[in-house]
Amino acid sequence: MPPTQTPDLIQLAPDCHVPVIWKPSSRARRLSLRIDPRRQAVSVTLPSGLSTAQAVQFLKIQKHWITKRLTALQQAPAFLPGRTIPIEGKPHTIVHHPTARGGVWIEAEQICVSGAEEFISRRITDFLKKHARQILGQELRAQAQMSGLRPTRLDIRDTSSRWGSCSSSGRIMLSWRLVMAPNSIRHYLIAHELAHLRHMNHAPAFWRLVDQLTPHRHHAEAWLKHHGSALLGAH
Ligand SMILES: [Zn+2]
Repeated sequence: MPPTQTPDLIQLAPDCHVPVIWKPSSRARRLSLRIDPRRQAVSVTLPSGLSTAQAVQFLKIQKHWITKRLTALQQAPAFLPGRTIPIEGKPHTIVHHPTARGGVWIEAEQICVSGAEEFISRRITDFLKKHARQILGQELRAQAQMSGLRPTRLDIRDTSSRWGSCSSSGRIMLSWRLVMAPNSIRHYLIAHELAHLRHMNHAPAFWRLVDQLTPHRHHAEAWLKHHGSALLGAH
């Protein structure tokens, strides 16, 4: 984890302030923006030679994009009693059972959590990570078998900026947050990373292979555009 840096509140319009994390970089050739879902802020890579004032001008031009993304994030599921979060796309309500034993368990569309209130979020996160390892592992093995594409290993990671990746050594990384997404979305994202075992790019041949592996590409891409950043920000 990088050291925690408090975001600066930057004014983009009279009624619009957004939290910004500045990342000065001597290697970056140009300014780039990224939304940091966990900190609900805009992360700005600032190449040397560019002032923050110049960067703010650029942020103002991108105001619409930034506020849209940040608003979507505020709708991100929070792991608190009474809130509803999806597991494999199905809504589950979080219910606190302070005196029960057993940590976290699923019962009739509820996620039941025992123990002290301040540990609820952490306990649910741990539960979902464990569940993710099981579900995503099964799904990856099934698709690998069907397609003949064999990853060398699967890593379940705690990323909040991307759903997955594939390395040139054949290692596939998936975000545990994927366990919240509907079945068709997980199917597509796993197919996408498997297809990278053959094509390490997004050229037409890559997309042809993706379409052979899954029927869900277009639906999933549209779904992710609308709901993706909210799920990546779940906490
Ligand atoms: Zn890709």
